[in-house]
Amino acid sequence: MSICPQCNGLNMTNYDCHFCGNELKELGRISDLFDDYSAYVEYDLDESYKSTCTHSFFCPNCKGYENIDIEII
Ligand SMILES: [Zn+2]
Ligand SMILES: [Zn+2]
Repeated sequence: MSICPQCNGLNMTNYDCHFCGNELKELGRISDLFDDYSAYVEYDLDESYKSTCTHSFFCPNCKGYENIDIEII
């Protein structure tokens, strides 16, 4: 069974903002954050999306959001 290391607290990687290099704060899984989005994401997971889990991150410096695909292990 494969798991997402980010969902399970195993991911030690820090992600930096593309714009300012500041460390991004993780907000959670896209499917947990946006109810409207979840049907779409789950549909995707059944198809070709199996190898990644998309998480949303926030840059406190830019006040911007970034979605990062975490590789499932
Ligand atoms: Zn995840
Ligand atoms: Zn930034």
